[in-house]
Amino acid sequence: MALWGELGNSLLEMSDKTKDNDPPTPEEMQKTLKDLFSKMGGGASMPFGSIFGDDDEKEDKTEDAPVEVNPADTIFDFNLKPREVKAHLDRFVIRQDEAKKALSIAVCDHYNNAKQLRALEEEGDDAEKLEYQKQNVIVVGPTGVGKTYLVKHIAEMIGVPFVKADATKFSETGYVGGDVDDLVRELVRKADGDVELAEYGIIYIDEIDKLASKGGGSFGKDVSGRGVQTTLLKLMEETEVALRNPMDMKGQMMAMMDMKSGKKTQKENINTRNILFIVSGAFSGLEKIVSKRVQSSQIGFQVEERTEVLDSELFKHVETQDFIDFGFEAEFVGRLPVRVVCEKLEKKDFVNIMKFSEGSILRQYEREFEAYGIRAQFEDTAIEKVAELSEKENTGARALMTVLADMLRDFKFELPGTSVSELKINSELIENKNEFIAKFKEEGEQIELTKARSEVDVFVQKFMAKHGIQMEFTDEAILSLSTQSAEQGRSVLQICGSKFKDYQFGLKLIQRNSGKDSFTITEEAVKDADKFLSDMVVISYDSIKKEEESTE
Ligand code: ADP
Repeated sequence: MALWGELGNSLLEMSDKTKDNDPPTPEEMQKTLKDLFSKMGGGASMPFGSIFGDDDEKEDKTEDAPVEVNPADTIFDFNLKPREVKAHLDRFVIRQDEAKKALSIAVCDHYNNAKQLRALEEEGDDAEKLEYQKQNVIVVGPTGVGKTYLVKHIAEMIGVPFVKADATKFSETGYVGGDVDDLVRELVRKADGDVELAEYGIIYIDEIDKLASKGGGSFGKDVSGRGVQTTLLKLMEETEVALRNPMDMKGQMMAMMDMKSGKKTQKENINTRNILFIVSGAFSGLEKIVSKRVQSSQIGFQVEERTEVLDSELFKHVETQDFIDFGFEAEFVGRLPVRVVCEKLEKKDFVNIMKFSEGSILRQYEREFEAYGIRAQFEDTAIEKVAELSEKENTGARALMTVLADMLRDFKFELPGTSVSELKINSELIENKNEFIAKFKEEGEQIELTKARSEVDVFVQKFMAKHGIQMEFTDEAILSLSTQSAEQGRSVLQICGSKFKDYQFGLKLIQRNSGKDSFTITEEAVKDADKFLSDMVVISYDSIKKEEESTE
């Protein structure tokens, strides 16, 4: 146990060093850990798995488990044609035809090349001879138009892991290189530790335009954005990334334990040669650069009309130089040979997304209402309205979620638990939201009341049969019983049974005193049955007294 204390002290010393802006080098860290573990002797039997949490346990299991089907083999069986990939994307992504085509071709080329390389390797040929320039892609387009959605569906279709990150995050740690490498390690995690599969994964980096060193860049110092470009460039070309982050103590300790236990060492590095990189950004301002250049070189080009948005038409004129003028390093742009644009979505696109995309948010809403036993149906007039409001939000298809949440919040809150089982969502419903909700509530109450009344009738009949006394419940009393029934989760009949359990005694007394044989049960009786009865009894005695006094 003393060794654990020593381990803690050593780690603390290291973290003190880090505070002084002098982080331990991976070698220093390894040495400290090595020294400690050698003092521990046969540390292999230590229960490290439980200390380090699930992730690491999982890693161990993957390593030990007998692998029957190699998921990476699916890549080497790759047999899709660009047209098939696009057809798959068409099921989910509305518009963005140029992007779909370009991405379909890029991924087919990429995975066909992987397949050919493997075939050469298996035949013992020199795979290096096969010259191939990786088809990394740059997608230009505003937010919420389907860029991530496209990449996610491509990765799912091919069966490769996919990781998404924002380029702006890379500057935050100040440890630029390590951060970018984490993307590659994340791919391995997504591939459940299968390094071979991860080596064919897809890394998608959004907000890449923020790395520009001029104009569009958001980094404090030029050098930071440029620094990330250089690090990314290395990844996009070919480099080996250590599977365990040298700055991650947990990972390093696991590696040491593996070494000590003499476990079959898995690959220590992951090669990035076959990882497909897709980067994207809004690139606002690029359209001006392009149209200015085109204007000066092409007489008659209608620049005035086209400086607003970078649509497919203007995008045809984009050249490497435009990205360089935007603030990118020439080598960086050079590693992104496939360039496509995703266009801004308009009202009719939002309508089509809701009506025809297989991933339509409307299906989600229908499922959510269904969970409360309500069959929700979106009608065209509502879809038009949602599309119209979404267009104004300027956040692409993400706005659909916001608009629908706002629009349907009250219905989602008020209707579950009422008798409403059908909800036709149309413009009339949306425009008269409050009236509809009030109406639904009232209808619900009426239905509840009718149900409660029939249960009260059963109670009254039983009471009559048993005690020969007639009770009559007012509407308010029934409503109050119905509310209590909902609150307590008991039936109205059960509540009457316990509330008016011994009522026959009091009522018979009153009957004797007053000669009454029918009793009205009010809301007060439901609220406090004992008090109501004893008040009635007192009154009945009072009336006898008065009668006696008057006859004296
Ligand atoms: P971004 O372009 O910023 O990466 P996303 O692809 O993440 O945007 O889009 C957000 C969500 O909006 C998606 O998950 C999807 O549900 C919907 N969406 C966006 N664009 C489209 C589109 N063209 N077709 C269908 N759904 C879309």
